[in-house]
Amino acid sequence: MIDITCQLLVIGAGPGGYVCAIRAGQLGLDTVIVEAARPGGTCLNVGCIPSKAMIHAADEFARLGHFAQGASPLGITTASPAIDLARTVEWKDGIVRRLTGGVSGLLKKAGVKQVEGWARFRDGKSVVVETATGPQRILAETVVIATGSEAVALPGLPFGGDILSSTEALSLTAVPERLAVVGAGYIGLELGTAFAKLGSNVTILEAAGRILPLWDAELTRPVARRLEKLGIAVHLDAKADRYAENTRTLSFVDAEGSDRSIAVDKVLVTVGRRPATRARGLEELDLTLDGHAIAVDEHCRTSMRGVYAIGDVTGEPMLAHRAMAQGEMVAEIVAGHRRAWDKRAIPAVCFTDPEIVSAGLSPTDAQKAGIDIRTGVFPFQANGRAMTLERDDGFVRIVARAGDNVILGIQATGVQVSEMASYFAHAIEMGARLEDVAATVHAHPTQGEAVQEAAMRALGHALHV
Ligand code: FAD
Repeated sequence: MIDITCQLLVIGAGPGGYVCAIRAGQLGLDTVIVEAARPGGTCLNVGCIPSKAMIHAADEFARLGHFAQGASPLGITTASPAIDLARTVEWKDGIVRRLTGGVSGLLKKAGVKQVEGWARFRDGKSVVVETATGPQRILAETVVIATGSEAVALPGLPFGGDILSSTEALSLTAVPERLAVVGAGYIGLELGTAFAKLGSNVTILEAAGRILPLWDAELTRPVARRLEKLGIAVHLDAKADRYAENTRTLSFVDAEGSDRSIAVDKVLVTVGRRPATRARGLEELDLTLDGHAIAVDEHCRTSMRGVYAIGDVTGEPMLAHRAMAQGEMVAEIVAGHRRAWDKRAIPAVCFTDPEIVSAGLSPTDAQKAGIDIRTGVFPFQANGRAMTLERDDGFVRIVARAGDNVILGIQATGVQVSEMASYFAHAIEMGARLEDVAATVHAHPTQGEAVQEAAMRALGHALHV
């Protein structure tokens, strides 16, 4: 067996792991990264990027369909659109190849050694990797676990055949005529909406009493209205329990407790993701867990000396940009910098229709924390740019501490609001007050003006509402 020794060993080349390795390489640490699949992890290969590519394709197709029906007030008409989903998927795969190839190039540029294969932990300082040329042992001074997460299956609906996880759904080469989506979290709603726009007859089953149960209810209402408009059937308080492949029937128990069934061609199960802590020797390390996740402190240190964990494997919020920020921080800590996790806001985005953004505290979060707040809401109905985009549903909401007007949270729902997520986080991280946002000249006409107006409204002097 060949031995490699290094200062820093990163397991998993998702957004957490590859960012950590690049930064470590830049800082002169002798770094090795091990990845079983392709660099980029869930995010670039089967998550963030592929899903947004398919959402874009679906939006384009739906827009043309709207024109073809003569339903557009813009005076545009066109012939009925057609879609070759296999080509769409090829296009999406091309983007993925460019990005994953780019990650490999960046790792190389930073002087990071890349090893391909599954790593199995032997102890807190060494792993054995099953590479194409045989097993390779890697010994490291410091180890970073960045193994990500995996889709959770339901006992009666194991993945395989017609039962898909988001990974298979993103590579379908034909649009299913009838699609059931089990779980109305952000992944289920993003993909369910995309398939409805591509022409599938979509039914959503959600065990909780509302869609996006982990999100602020007020923010989700415009999305619920849009699902209805798109003809998507939503069953709430509904528990899917089994699927008969021969008859293509999905059974579920509805809100009244009655057994129901629907005929479908594919079932997409999106009931959550679980930190990938269960396999490949990780259990032998005897790390302290927090539920299913590896417990970490504000430096991403685990309970074992010299072993760090970052990204989805450390639990919620399971988001690519959190994983990246943790990765960068850990590389700097290992290189001797003084860093700690002190973020005030990790913006979260739902690329639903309309989109939702939440950064910092919602009014409910603030109230639960016993903070006295003032809020300002500004509807896109009063925003000129939203009107020119033909979509004025949704609003911006700003939450500030009552005593000094320091902004604690900003949320929005509306078309293209994802592009404002970083602006929201920036204001919160900089410790901006309502007065700062209100006094900043906002470009016109933009949807960002709604944030300024929300701040003015919280101060009691909105201009356009
Ligand atoms: P991952 O990206 O999961 O990477 C972990 C890597 O480790 C994998 O490549 C895996 O092969 C490798 N690995 C695991 N074990 C081993 C081992 N023993 N040996 C070698 N390699 C190993 N997040 C967002 O922020 N925005 C979005 O819009 C968004 N959309 C999403 C859409 C979908 C459909 C899905 C599924 C997820 C989405 N996410 C999104 C979540 C995002 O993908 C994750 O938060 C992010 O990828 C986590 O990064 P990570 O580095 O922790 O782990």
